[in-house]
Amino acid sequence: CGIFAYLNYCVSRTRKEIFETLVKGLQRLEYRGYDSAGIAVDGDKNTTTDGINNNIIVLIKKNGKVKALDEELYKKDCMDLEVELDTHFGMAHTRWATHGEPSALNSHPHRSDKNNEFVVIHNGIITNYKELKKYLNSKGYEFESETDTEVIPKLIKYVYDNREREDLSFSTLVERVIQQLVRSPLLIGVRSKYELSAEHIPIQYNTVIHLWLFQCSGVQEKNSHNRPDIANAVNSAEDGKAVEYYFASDASAIIEHTNKVIYLEDDDIAAVVGGKLSLHRLNRLAGEVPVRAIQTLQME
Ligand code: GLU
Repeated sequence: CGIFAYLNYCVSRTRKEIFETLVKGLQRLEYRGYDSAGIAVDGDKNTTTDGINNNIIVLIKKNGKVKALDEELYKKDCMDLEVELDTHFGMAHTRWATHGEPSALNSHPHRSDKNNEFVVIHNGIITNYKELKKYLNSKGYEFESETDTEVIPKLIKYVYDNREREDLSFSTLVERVIQQLVRSPLLIGVRSKYELSAEHIPIQYNTVIHLWLFQCSGVQEKNSHNRPDIANAVNSAEDGKAVEYYFASDASAIIEHTNKVIYLEDDDIAAVVGGKLSLHRLNRLAGEVPVRAIQTLQME
């Protein structure tokens, strides 16, 4: 199973390029084994056919190989492949079923509701999903899959709908939900239509899964200096400069884009909001900000 996500901020990419990036990322993770695959992408602002409208997040899922998913992407003829998207977040998943048979319905991403307000991809197991599901059912939340994963987007929606303050940030929302999950090694991507954000959370006991960040070298060249660390990357984005991020559960999926990566440690959360990357700690002490160096992978 595997997770791959790609975010471009102020960099123009066509829908087709974004599909290709996501599919290639998944193909590089194929060796890890899986039974189904799926992606979540932003819809086109002006597309209104086939229920896809006004920038709603679009989910495309398929049982079987990544190749089958790839073919499915181009059948969505209501999605304009040539449209230029200058800020976009897409995420992709290959599933190794643990709860619920392999099927398009059970494959990821999973969603909070029919409007796809929050969508989630996840590797790992939520061991307390039955209790959570029962609770959410009693609150009127209906499930469409047999997976443990689906409790995550439903719980996000529940916490969001019952927030006490209007300004609940997306990061805080996700953190609150993660704290309710009893989890085995875990990696999660969450996307909301309200903020351009990605959060990937490798949890304790996890020595294998990391999040990888990088900036595309092509974009770097536009700037006068190379940016060797996150602080520079963040500043560049603040200055309105273009930036691209890749996230994956395995470095092999991003090596063709860059050899500059950040490895998250257990309980780290990475978020990108408005083109800016920030790192947090789950259950952080006040003011604690993790420092994670950008590492250079040695290519063989
Ligand atoms: N437990 C989840 C499921 O069965 C995720 C499995 C995975 O890691 O791919 O859908």
